[in-house]
Amino acid sequence: MKTMVDTEQAISLMRKSSRIVALSGAGISTEAGIPDFRGPGGLWEDGSLMKQLSASGFASDPEGFYRASVRLFSSIGNARPTLAHKLLARLEEIGKLDAVVTQNIDGLHHAAGSKRVFELHGTYRTGHCPKCGAGFDMAAYYADIGSGKLKVPLCPSCGVPVKPDIVLFEDLLPVDAWDAAVEAAEQCDLMLVLGSSLVVYPAAELPMIPISSGVPLVIVNLEETGYDGMARVVVRGRLGDFAKSALAAFI
Ligand code: NAD
Repeated sequence: MKTMVDTEQAISLMRKSSRIVALSGAGISTEAGIPDFRGPGGLWEDGSLMKQLSASGFASDPEGFYRASVRLFSSIGNARPTLAHKLLARLEEIGKLDAVVTQNIDGLHHAAGSKRVFELHGTYRTGHCPKCGAGFDMAAYYADIGSGKLKVPLCPSCGVPVKPDIVLFEDLLPVDAWDAAVEAAEQCDLMLVLGSSLVVYPAAELPMIPISSGVPLVIVNLEETGYDGMARVVVRGRLGDFAKSALAAFI
């Protein structure tokens, strides 16, 4: 009952807004079959993963990196956008949403039709050779790693391990995406945080921008976040249920 009331309040704020910025996290894609890190059943339950998915982990043990990330990458390969991804594309289409800022690497916002998407942590779809800079489409490599045919993709020219274009722990964020995200957050009239634990910095700093200027923040998440006390509305529930109600309101 409370979730329904909170959902209605969130929809009412969305109706009044015309420059919404959405900040999405791994929780927006769990209903597409992609595990998150910190939610129930998330990848973090494997305690060694943070080390293996770090820049130093990749440099010292690329085989371990690909072995550790294969569950995430192969689940992304089969995924389709969720209702929540479609909601954001719809809000942009009707002129209410200015931008999606995402911490995700799965490309599902673009697949849903969103146009202005700032990918703070890069994309898993492409990769590059750290030595010569050559670019690669990663899909075939992931398929071969998943089926056990390949352990590490190597650059055909240099023979060094190809690195996916994702921001690993210890890596810096892409400057252009970060600057665009900050600018959008400064100009928004509502920020929607969808499916993020809000503990990964600097992405987790972004909600402070609307909060500090009195612009409303809405959080939709299964679990509590450190920002809940500062949000205008917190919807504690599944994004699929929230998006179903919100899509019906913005048909
Ligand atoms: P997180 O795993 O730390 O938190 C996800 C949050 O979403 C949790 O609090 C969980 O309760 C909530 N959640 C899960 N399913 C939900 C649902 N159906 N409805 C509502 N809430 C739901 O994710 P994060 O904050 O994005 O930070 C983790 C990092 O993980 C990011 O840097 C991201 O790059 C990376 N990551 C990305 C993907 C992806 O691209 N899909 C998947 C796993 C991890």
